[in-house]
Order: sequence, then structure tokens, then C-alpha cells
Amino acid sequence: MDFSLNEQQLELKDLTHQFAAKEMRPVAGEYDEKNEFPVEVMKKAFEVGFLTSGIPVEFGGTGFSTMDNVVVCEELGWGCSGMYTSMMANTLATTPIVLFGTEEQKKEFLTPLTREMSFACFGLTEREAGSDNSMIRTTAVKNGDHYIINGSKTFITNAGIAKLGVIFASTDPSRGARGLSAFIVPMDTPGVSVGKHENKMGHRASNTAEIYLDEVKIPATNLLKREGFGFIIAMKTLDFARPAVGAGAVGLARAAYEEALKYAQNRVQFGKPIASFQYNAFKLAEMITEIEGARLLVYRSAWMLDNNMKASKESAMAKVVATDVAMKVTTEAVQLMGGYGYMKEYPVEKMMRDAKLFQIYEGTNEIQKHVISLEILGSMKNIG
Ligand SMILES: Cc1cc2nc3c(=O)[nH]c(=O)nc-3n(C[C@H](O)[C@H](O)[C@H](O)COP(=O)(O)OP(=O)(O)OC[C@H]3O[C@@H](n4cnc5c(N)ncnc54)[C@H](O)[C@@H]3O)c2cc1C
Repeated sequence: MDFSLNEQQLELKDLTHQFAAKEMRPVAGEYDEKNEFPVEVMKKAFEVGFLTSGIPVEFGGTGFSTMDNVVVCEELGWGCSGMYTSMMANTLATTPIVLFGTEEQKKEFLTPLTREMSFACFGLTEREAGSDNSMIRTTAVKNGDHYIINGSKTFITNAGIAKLGVIFASTDPSRGARGLSAFIVPMDTPGVSVGKHENKMGHRASNTAEIYLDEVKIPATNLLKREGFGFIIAMKTLDFARPAVGAGAVGLARAAYEEALKYAQNRVQFGKPIASFQYNAFKLAEMITEIEGARLLVYRSAWMLDNNMKASKESAMAKVVATDVAMKVTTEAVQLMGGYGYMKEYPVEKMMRDAKLFQIYEGTNEIQKHVISLEILGSMKNIG
């Protein structure tokens, strides 16, 4: 078993870290405070290839493997979670096309995203359909050589800036989640409109908004795979996205740990650095141990996906463990830094707010446990 990254991945890690340290960290607090999308940072991220990570090289993208992508995501999460989220929402949105699109669909819809800074969005969630996809009320009705889509999507990352959306709609409401289909929807199609940029607790540099679809007419050729395949497309896409969420959370946890470590070594109380009190030293030891454990789960799930193995359970495990670790480590970092940790002048306050979203989006951590338990009970059933 080889735990080391190859030379190319080490270079990629180093390059991404430099990018995160130079372009993201210094402005992270400012964009968070202003609740503003960081266009200038994104332009540079596009130049380096972070906005097209998931698009294969033959269609003009960076074409990262899942393993390359998690290495990059950890560093981007270290830089700023909100900026990471906008960049990775592009990969989330392009993955259904990469996995299930025809050659024509890939050429038509992926290649333009690689020519200039562009964003895409993944539209699954609705107001009444969060964890429960069977409640999706957006419909797509076939009419000759096109579909008419009506409905709305909520909490969609990049919605307000996207050129393209992959929208999940029901083509057979009587079948619940099994009646879902996935459509590629150019966001400038008449009838598509977007709500206000949401005012969030964290990840404030990422754009989040509602999408409204009113008699949106799109060619039938924009259907991915076939009618009724939408749920499988969503679940397979999330299998690939969850290691990346885990990696972003590991990066965030590492950033908070580094801040806490530095502070604890320098802050003197009772005549000694606070890190010299064993209670605090053990806290730091626990933080780094849990971060490294989470990273191994992330790497394993990415490796399995790159080796064409089914990894629904392992991706869900990586996501739940890494994001819980991020919440715990950022909270502990604030605690270790006392009143200073609570102040906006220090970065851990933002990090603690940012950690929360990792436990909620791309399937809440309760839903990850549901995914894991289905796999366990399935295998128990097989044994029995
Ligand atoms: C900032 C942000 C960005 C997002 N970006 C996107 C995006 O780009 N695209 C997209 O499609 N969606 C996106 N989402 C939506 C996100 O995936 C959903 O918020 C999430 O899946 C939960 O859905 P919900 O908010 O409706 O909560 P609910 O499903 O209503 O859940 C509420 C609570 O009940 C729990 N719960 C629900 N069902 C069960 C169960 N069976 N067992 C145990 N507990 C349960 C949940 O875990 C949660 O704690 C985003 C959300 C946010 C906040």
C-alpha cells in the first residue's frame, strides 16, 4: 500500500497551496465581510485551471483525476471555504455531463466553459425537496423535439453567475425520485430567472440563489441519458463530489489547527505558553490526529473512484467524518484562542462559521449515515 502522492500530485499540491496563500487567504476576510463574490480571484483561478477541474482535457478542461482533485480541494479549502465552494460547484455541475453526456453534449456544453471564465450550477434542491428528492415538483414535459420545464430550485451555488445549469425535473411525477430526469439548461434560456444572493452564515464569498423556471423550452437533445435516469445521475455525481467536500473540510480544519497551534505556542498565561498545559497540548494532538484520519478516508474514496470501484459508502464516510472533524477542530481552535478567537480580526471565527455548511450541503451528514446504513443493511441482507 502506497500512501505517498506522486511527483505530479506533489507539484499540484504545492502550486495550489501557493495560489491559496497568495490569492485567497489575504482577501478571504474581506469578501466574507462584504458578502461578495470574488471575481478577481476567480479570474486567476480560471487561468490556473481550477474552474475546469472536472472537464476532461479533450474538451479543453484541466481533467483532474478524483485523487488530483482532492489534493487541490484540500489546499483551496485551506485558502477560503467560500471561494472553494464556487470553484467546486463547477465540477459538481459538469460531472453529470462528463459521466452521462454524449460526445455531442460534451462538445457543445463543456468546451465553451473552458474558453473564458464561466460558472455552472447543479440544480437538485427545492424548497420542499431537500433531503427527499421524491418531493421534487419541477416538471419537464416533452412536446415534440423539446421539453418545457416549470418549477424552481433553492440554495443553488453559482446560480446567479452560471452560464449553464444541470436541472433535475420530474418527467413522471407518479414515480417519485425514479421519475426524475436531468437536463442541461443554458441559463440565458427565456423563462429562466434567478433570485437574490442569499445572506449566509458562512461561505459568504460563494454565490447562492434560487432559480425559477417558467415555461422554459429546451431541445430534447439536452436530456442527459434518458427519462427516469435523473436520480441515478444525481447519486453517481454525489459519489464523486463527496470526497471533494471532505477534502475541502480537511483543508479548513488544517487551517484552523495551524492558527491554534501558532497561537497556543505564543500566548502566555500563568507564566507559560498555553500549549505547555497538557490539556491544550492533547487538544492539539487530537486535532491533528483527526485531521490526518479524515484525510485517509478522503484519499481512499478518491482512489476507489479512480479505480472504477463503487464507493458510495466510502465517499459518504469520508464526507461525514471530514466535515465533523472540521466542525470540531474549528470550534476547538476558537476555544483555544479564547476571546481573541471570537474576534473577526483572527481568521478562526470565520472558519468556524464556514465549517457548518460542510455538514449540510451535498447531502446532510444524517443523509450520509442513511447512505452508509443502506449499504451495510444491504450487505447484511445478502449474508442472511
Ligand atoms: C449554502 C448552500 C449551498 C447549497 N448548494 C446547493 C447546490 O449547488 N445544489 C443543490 O441542489 N443544493 C444545494 N444546497 C442544498 C443542500 O444540499 C440542502 O440544503 C441539503 O441537502 C438539506 O436539505 P434541506 O436544507 O431542505 O434540509 P431538510 O432535508 O429539510 O433537513 C432538515 C434536517 O432534517 C434532517 N433529515 C432529513 N431527512 C432525514 C432522515 N431521513 N433521517 C434523519 N434526518 C433527516 C437533515 O439531516 C437536517 O438535519 C445548498 C445548501 C446550502 C445551505
